[in-house]
Amino acid sequence: MPDLADEASLLTEQMLEVHVMAIRQTLQAPTVVVKNCEACGHPIGDARRKIMPAAALCVDCQFLNESLKKHYLR
Ligand SMILES: [Zn+2]
Repeated sequence: MPDLADEASLLTEQMLEVHVMAIRQTLQAPTVVVKNCEACGHPIGDARRKIMPAAALCVDCQFLNESLKKHYLR
């Protein structure tokens, strides 16, 4: 029977693997620079695009989106 430490290390390994896969996908994905928000059409700021190149929503819409998710996914 695996002890807690083994289980924890296995879980950590799996989580790491998922992260690495996600990072690889991001690196392999064609660079699509979204300049305008997909929801409202307003330009996405340079600062935001620098931090999150894959961002498709402006800060306001992202915030709204996350607030709605938090509100409904409880
Ligand atoms: Zn927007």
